[in-house]
Amino acid sequence: MKFFELTHPDYSTDLQFSKANPVEQDDKDFLPGVYCEKCDDQWASSNRLCVEKRVQKQITDYLRSNNIPDVISAQQWSSLILELSTITGLPKENFHPGAPYGVPGGILKKKEVCNFSHPFPGLLWVTSDVMSLIRAEKLTGIQLMEVKFKISKRVAGFQPPQLWEIIITGKAWRQGHNVDNVTICNCCKRTVFPEPNNLKVDISRWDGSDFFNIDLNPNIIIVTERVCEVLDKGKFTNYLCIPIN
Ligand SMILES: [Zn+2]
Repeated sequence: MKFFELTHPDYSTDLQFSKANPVEQDDKDFLPGVYCEKCDDQWASSNRLCVEKRVQKQITDYLRSNNIPDVISAQQWSSLILELSTITGLPKENFHPGAPYGVPGGILKKKEVCNFSHPFPGLLWVTSDVMSLIRAEKLTGIQLMEVKFKISKRVAGFQPPQLWEIIITGKAWRQGHNVDNVTICNCCKRTVFPEPNNLKVDISRWDGSDFFNIDLNPNIIIVTERVCEVLDKGKFTNYLCIPIN
């Protein structure tokens, strides 16, 4: 079985990066962050919670009507996610401290976009061509949700292209790593990603998805060979599949 990291091409300068990715995240609503007494630190995860407007409102209403502050203790977090999980029907593992929640929002700074845009590590926005092909080929381990765009003044009056966020739901663990060695605090359950250059997948702990994250890290996307073949067929722009050795 061959796996690949799905990422952006190498750009020689920051300017090239912004030209190829004229988009920015624009999230309005965030879950509270956690202050952990044991870590003596406050932290927010880089996870996201993409949900429909109806669910977004359920979460906002709960946080407001219960006066939940922007930063809470690890203990308060545990009870909060139980409540939110009950209200929304989502598993409590989907909630992460400080994560933006709701319909994904973006700002578009140029009229033309490539087939793939990379607003943040592990975050992929793709054009409708890519979305249709992924759906037609029934690739697994993802959900697709349309990004709602705000247009920057420079391109005002222009109808933005439809872009879709690829929400990764597939999971695997790397060889030699497990939940115990990536969790550095038992109180707030904060995780790290040791040995960042080792992306070797433990096949026995891979859920079989075509797209997946490893070791609970949302910033790295791993795909199967089949995904590379499908994307190659579409002749899409602004992405790279790097083989994992
Ligand atoms: Zn902690």
